[in-house]
Amino acid sequence: MTQRILILAGDGIGPEITAEAVKILKLLQTRWNLDIALDFGLIGGCAYDATGVPLPKETLELAQHADAILLGAVGGPQWESLDIKVRPEKGLLGIRSALGLFANLRPAILYPQLAAASTLKPEVVSNLDIMIVRELTGGIYFSQPRGIRQTDTGEREGFNTLVYRESEIRRIAKVAFTTAMERDSRLCSVDKANVLEATEFWREIITDVAKDFPKVKLSHMYVDNAAMQLVRNPKQFDVMVTTNMFGDILSDCAAMLTGSIGMLPSASLNEQGKGMYEPIHGSAPDIAGKGIANPLATILSVAMMLRYSLDMPKYAQRIEEAVGIVLAQGLRTSDIYAPNTTEVSTDTMGDAVVAALTNVDYSS
Ligand code: NAD
Repeated sequence: MTQRILILAGDGIGPEITAEAVKILKLLQTRWNLDIALDFGLIGGCAYDATGVPLPKETLELAQHADAILLGAVGGPQWESLDIKVRPEKGLLGIRSALGLFANLRPAILYPQLAAASTLKPEVVSNLDIMIVRELTGGIYFSQPRGIRQTDTGEREGFNTLVYRESEIRRIAKVAFTTAMERDSRLCSVDKANVLEATEFWREIITDVAKDFPKVKLSHMYVDNAAMQLVRNPKQFDVMVTTNMFGDILSDCAAMLTGSIGMLPSASLNEQGKGMYEPIHGSAPDIAGKGIANPLATILSVAMMLRYSLDMPKYAQRIEEAVGIVLAQGLRTSDIYAPNTTEVSTDTMGDAVVAALTNVDYSS
């Protein structure tokens, strides 16, 4: 059956980087006859300009009928003064919540050719390969009550609430354990169980779900220690699972270990396995239109899509290997440029990945 992929290029560098990912998807159709169909829609600032809202009804309908979604990025200075309800980011939050995308998978992978790009010593980060599984639709970012109020003494206070229901913890735990099973079978659950009851409960449920995954070695770590360990010795981790806010912070920290925001993909999955795939970076308005953005995070997002939503892991691996080949050839966009490498444009980088996929003989 045809698998429908919705492409949402978005704003800033979004159209430039998704154009390169589309080249890869078209190659999958022509070279390997994969039964995929591409749809295109508007989201973010460009959608606001065209329709007055950042997530038009037509886009949401296409998203609901798609098997997977590839997103570039949204936002830019020209939309920052808009009412918060119609800002580009609302389109992103709207699609995540409409599709119930509760599991955010963010790999932090350092290609050996880019070891010098990290701020940490090469021996600490070389061959780094961590997967952070972040709960995306619950926790303190969503729980009620919340707000800013006047107290009885007349002083104002800001307040938020941290709630995790058992079902929310169980479903993210299953994603994390399953992900660990597909890797090195080690899972570290990150919490603050010593001071937050909600995460004491998190630890209890994660420990219970572990009984269904006896092959996975589960450990627990407090979030402050996890932040320190990520910088001290990141290679000790295989898969990490954590709450929405802790995951927000730790995954950015882990991403920067690799030193290259333009290299890292992400996936946000719902209970049916439908996912939205996007680079972790934003719309980079400072370089938009210059043809210098790194398209590899978006191309690697296609690989994640093939692995997690379309059940085509073989092709995911080929794309990841092709990215390794172009890096080994010394090709670099400006964000990852280093002496003795060749600086190339966005489309030359995309074409090089296509060539690497085309030239390798997969018959053996
Ligand atoms: P950003 O990630 O867009 O850019 C940060 C820096 O990294 C910039 O110097 C940029 O040039 C560089 N960069 C980012 N991606 C790159 C790539 N592929 N190749 C080369 N260099 C790259 O973050 P920002 O500047 O804080 O935000 C810009 C806009 O993006 C804002 O409107 C923000 O709201 C939005 N944003 C969107 C998303 C998303 O769509 N998921 C995520 C983060 C930020």
